[in-house]
Amino acid sequence: MSTRISRRGLLAAGGAGAVALSFGGVFSSRASALPRGAYPFAAGVASGEPAPGGVVLWTRIALDDLGRQAVGGVVPVGWQIAEDEGMTRIVDRGIRLATAKDGYSVRVEADRLRPGREYWYRFYAHGQASPVGRTRTAPAFGRSPRSLSFCLASCSHWEAGHFTAYRRIVEDDPWLVVHVGDYIYEGGPGKSGVRQHSNAEPMDLAGYRERHAQYNSDPDLRELRRLFPLVVTPDDHEVENNYAGLISQVDTEPDQDPQVFAQRRAAAYQAYWEFMPLRRPQHPWGSGMQLYREVDLGDLAHFVVADTRQYRTDQPYGDKGPADGPEMTNPDATLPGIAQERWIVDRMTRSRARWNVLAQQVLMASHDTVKGDAKGYSTDQWDAYRASRQRVLTGIADGGTRNPVVLTGDIHQHYASDLLRDFADPSSPVIGSELCATSVTSGGDGSDAREDLSENPWMKYNAKRRGYVRVTVDRERLRADFRTLSAVTTPDAPAVTDASFTIEDGRPGLRA
Ligand code: FE
Ligand code: CA
Repeated sequence: MSTRISRRGLLAAGGAGAVALSFGGVFSSRASALPRGAYPFAAGVASGEPAPGGVVLWTRIALDDLGRQAVGGVVPVGWQIAEDEGMTRIVDRGIRLATAKDGYSVRVEADRLRPGREYWYRFYAHGQASPVGRTRTAPAFGRSPRSLSFCLASCSHWEAGHFTAYRRIVEDDPWLVVHVGDYIYEGGPGKSGVRQHSNAEPMDLAGYRERHAQYNSDPDLRELRRLFPLVVTPDDHEVENNYAGLISQVDTEPDQDPQVFAQRRAAAYQAYWEFMPLRRPQHPWGSGMQLYREVDLGDLAHFVVADTRQYRTDQPYGDKGPADGPEMTNPDATLPGIAQERWIVDRMTRSRARWNVLAQQVLMASHDTVKGDAKGYSTDQWDAYRASRQRVLTGIADGGTRNPVVLTGDIHQHYASDLLRDFADPSSPVIGSELCATSVTSGGDGSDAREDLSENPWMKYNAKRRGYVRVTVDRERLRADFRTLSAVTTPDAPAVTDASFTIEDGRPGLRA
């Protein structure tokens, strides 16, 4: 993918050439920190956070897939964005200085673009050009296209399989790709996977950086990042399995000490920031990171992106589920934190868009997993924080949110479920629906078995294969295609639509 360009080529290209002239001193003295002839774009390119007239462009100066080869000094990086794939109609350009502090990541909030159109972009550094990426800006309010599509993914474990689902998403050519967490997994190298993690379980920034670099070296993920704007939010494995706020899972690691865990979480968030096309307000701050945010896609769809890990109270019953009882109805327990609960309700109810999408991590619909009269629920999902769920569902419903749709991942199975106003009262009305995407790879191939959903009648569908969900919205309806792969432990399996559901505008509930 290396595109060697001469200084004359740079000048002809305009943007980076102008940069080289105006920052000539920087360019010539500091750029020599990179080995002569080295290709600095091993990390590829990405884009994300589309807005009407704007989008984030991303790259990271790296000399090899794992980012192990040192990059020193300050690296000037030119960028260009154009209206055509051939990069001839350049509409904006500039320079960023990549520094060690942010892991030589580069992001550009290109905000002087026209709404609702495709753009192509590339970066220059060290006399070389990055691959050309493609991205899109959101439509202006009132100027939406007839329909808009996105693919929903979660739980992509490097060792558990090939990222074929990402390849199939690329082929589906959605407008946008949403990843709701477990983008990386933190475990050390295992013995049974189809491929191995390159480093031990990360505890520090260097470790998390290498883990992200390894994941992003996957050719299918690389291509997905190059071609589609991303909207991402992490779940637990970007830091550590089932952490809650500043509380580690129970294990024998030094991070049982909350101060140690805070440092570990800060390292994980910093690496996440460095590798994701996020906006500046998401830059980590102390041990925290402002991840919950809105993504404005005009009048057809509005995304409220939540963070259900960073502010949650500790899991009930020592996080040993399935369980049931008063700890799960504790009014002081909260999954997104009280402030974010209010924010979610406020943003969902104030939106004037037709489809109001809440992109978040864990299953919101009630899910009794114990057969028979006894009930048992996951201690890590909304069921374990029922008062919190009730505050959000009641707020969304009473505020008159138009067509609320919740996006979920985490549990490595597809589920399509209606959301009841009050799950304690099965006769209460359907106020929205939840689309839960299976894993990209986690859990390996899975099986063709189906869960018996009779004890959770609001749940309409389950599948245990790997894949993703493809969603299309227009003015009349939302359509969700649950895509599955026959295998991920062998490469290149085809994707099929295992089931489809629609939701009609103004008529809550899934239709088969
Ligand atoms: Fe997962
Ligand atoms: Ca039961």
